[in-house]
Amino acid sequence: MTAITLAAPLAGWAMPLEEVPDPAFAQGLVGAGMAIDPTVNELRSPCDGVVLSIHRARHACTVRATGGAEVLLHLGIDTVGLNGEGFTAHVRDGQPVKTGDLLIGFDMDLVGSRAQSLVSMMVVVNDGFTIDGRTVNREIAAGETAMTVHGGSEAAAAPVAAASGGTAERSVILRIAHGLHARPAAALVAAAKAHPGAVTILCRDRSANAKSVVALMGLGTTLGDRLTVRAGGAGAEGVVETIAGLIDSGLGDPLTEMGAEPPAGAAAPVAAPVPAPMPPAAEEEAGPPFAEGEEVLLKGTIAVPGQAVGTVVRRFSSRMRVAEEGEGPAVEEPRLRRALETVTAGLAESARRMPEHAAIFQAHRELLDDPELLDGALADIATGKSADWAWQRTAQLQADALAALADPRMAERAADLRDLERQVLAALSGKAPNVGLADLPAGSIVLADEILPSELAGVPAGRLAGIGMAHGGPTSHAVILAAALGVPTVVALGRQAERVPDGAPVVIDGNRGELHVSPPEDMLAATRTAVAARAVRREENRRLAGEDCRMADGTRIEIFANLGRVSDAPGAVIEGAEGCGLLRTEFLFLERQSAPSEDEQYRQYQQIADALEGRPVVIRTLDVGGDKPLPYLPLPKEENPVLGLRGVRVGLREPELLRAQIRAVLRVKPVGVCRIMVPMIASPSELQAVRTMVDEERAALRRAEPIELGAMIEVPAAALIADRIGAVADFLSIGTNDLTQYVLAMDRGNPYVAAQLDALHPGVLRLIRQAVTGAAVHGRTVAVCGGAASDPMAAPLLIGLGVTELSATPAVIADLKAQIRGLRLEDCRRVAEAALATDSADEVRRLVAEAWPVI
Ligand code: PEP
Ligand code: MG
Repeated sequence: MTAITLAAPLAGWAMPLEEVPDPAFAQGLVGAGMAIDPTVNELRSPCDGVVLSIHRARHACTVRATGGAEVLLHLGIDTVGLNGEGFTAHVRDGQPVKTGDLLIGFDMDLVGSRAQSLVSMMVVVNDGFTIDGRTVNREIAAGETAMTVHGGSEAAAAPVAAASGGTAERSVILRIAHGLHARPAAALVAAAKAHPGAVTILCRDRSANAKSVVALMGLGTTLGDRLTVRAGGAGAEGVVETIAGLIDSGLGDPLTEMGAEPPAGAAAPVAAPVPAPMPPAAEEEAGPPFAEGEEVLLKGTIAVPGQAVGTVVRRFSSRMRVAEEGEGPAVEEPRLRRALETVTAGLAESARRMPEHAAIFQAHRELLDDPELLDGALADIATGKSADWAWQRTAQLQADALAALADPRMAERAADLRDLERQVLAALSGKAPNVGLADLPAGSIVLADEILPSELAGVPAGRLAGIGMAHGGPTSHAVILAAALGVPTVVALGRQAERVPDGAPVVIDGNRGELHVSPPEDMLAATRTAVAARAVRREENRRLAGEDCRMADGTRIEIFANLGRVSDAPGAVIEGAEGCGLLRTEFLFLERQSAPSEDEQYRQYQQIADALEGRPVVIRTLDVGGDKPLPYLPLPKEENPVLGLRGVRVGLREPELLRAQIRAVLRVKPVGVCRIMVPMIASPSELQAVRTMVDEERAALRRAEPIELGAMIEVPAAALIADRIGAVADFLSIGTNDLTQYVLAMDRGNPYVAAQLDALHPGVLRLIRQAVTGAAVHGRTVAVCGGAASDPMAAPLLIGLGVTELSATPAVIADLKAQIRGLRLEDCRRVAEAALATDSADEVRRLVAEAWPVI
């Protein structure tokens, strides 16, 4: 073992690494060290050694010191994006250097104005070293002693080149679209664990223990990265070969071709983590949990109407309060190990019960098995902390670091880690670990930051009574699924929702956007009565649901269902759906890791058509992008994906994906039962391009009969030129969710604008009228399939504006039909006309409430 001192590589204010405004560095995930806010523009070597690598963006450099410590010197924060601008390298890879040698010069003005911060880090990135004696919290001169590194050996100061003295290295290019995300990382870990010695993966200026899924994911690798596999000890050559070969073959992920142009999703290498979104300034701290029995009213935004009484199941990512001090390692370590075993057994049991989700549970087990997680927690326990505190801290740090990476898939893994954090804490407190929404007890009202569409996809019927989200928007895709399940939902409750304790009795009121915590007994009783009365009314409405829907004056309005999964279809028929007006095909394939084949798609569409017993099925082509990323479809990282590659834009960019889907639809029997609808149309030429594909595929399948092809009106421009789009479309269907977000310039997933995101805004209504008028030029029908079609206040207005078909969430169809049977077209037209001349959605809602007080 040796100790070396590192000299300050820069002059400036020296600070602890923990204060650096970058979570990965601050949490020590890159390595141990310190930082300097520089007052000079030259980075100098802190030790004698050899330059291991100068980053291609010239903002960072790693020097291997005598003794083997690898010292990363990283200039500024978020400087990789400057792509070398403002930096001049004065050394090359492999060059020997002495303490004080100039490594990189930089333009302080340019870098200072373009980067998040000039604070520069010096950290030891490889295993087997510790640091102490940091000089921090004062000005430091370049060359002054900055810190001491212990560990390693002279032998470790091997030459930069490959295998020598029991160490082997091999470089390989990563050719998988999303880098080392959880699954490939787990495959790599499995191979590395077979080797008794250390195995490290180096990428750019970082290194990670190859036996840790979390550490590998934390590398933030992307397609095209050069990875170096390094192993030590007997058999190092073999393991390096094996792992490099595995990486080269994709570690179980499909390989992505890399031409001169980087493929979608692979564009910019991401070396520095992107800071996680800041909580809104206006939002208050969550505060301590509400006391048992404390009566509280929280206000949010209506997402799915309806009321429910139930018991809270918390699904927040934020920390539970746990005692910091433990009873000593002899007690706490076995407690933690037992809790981990309990959760592992629970995951195995869940995988057995729900084989369709087995891959998710397996990924959770891999994470639980992660040596870095356990080692981190044991290190805290060794200092006297409780198992709960130690586990929470370690899991939280790692989850935060993953969440800060640019790739949304990594953020999902962070959610997995938080889930495991909760489960282990539950096991430590003696409660049964909750393995997710799939395992809810009946009557649960789930409170969460935000629920993912994929989580809701696994909820068994009847268990989930209500949902309250601290964040989220009223038309997000998770809300759409909640609506399909008929689960009253309130969003944008704010962080106060985090204070509601597990098991608290609550009333969720989706009609008013309220959550009543520990309400008085009379309110619980009144809500139960109202829920029961509503169920009776619903049953009555269902009895007539099969009849056609005619208004009081005889006007025929068609009511269809929006479907997202095969199992929704029979319920929709019972509710009285006359067909499916929108099949969100992307929901069928949300939880998959690879694209569905044409045959798989065909089978699903056919099952839905069969379940609808001959009623028409409008199949929307894949609408991915925005808040619906698909793991198997790498799209470029976009500044603003909602305004980027979405809907038809993706289909035209990935024509094979679209063609496979078109073929699958064309194969459904009986011929003529399906129609094709294309999302996010902005111009007739897009629909024309899809029509050409449809015609070509039809010819290839030797199908003579045409198929109806419709355009969704979601982009304001499409509503404005509906007369032009109607020339190439057989029908139009208005997606009010997107139309509203684009017209009002309010993100449909953003809780801060959730209360104003209302499809009844007169601006949206005017566009709907414009679309109806334009469509009439070519005699095209206009449907509404966005959330407004399921809103009882919107239905009379839409009908008054000339819409003749509504496609609603199945749970409301019987009620909607009953409501429309009581309306007269003349009244609807009058109120709609008045609504167009108002200033706000609130005013419109008041008009509707005056005209039809019982809605
Ligand atoms: C809409 O935008 O209104 C719509 C129906 O499509 P989605 O909600 O799936 O984006
Ligand atoms: Mg849409």
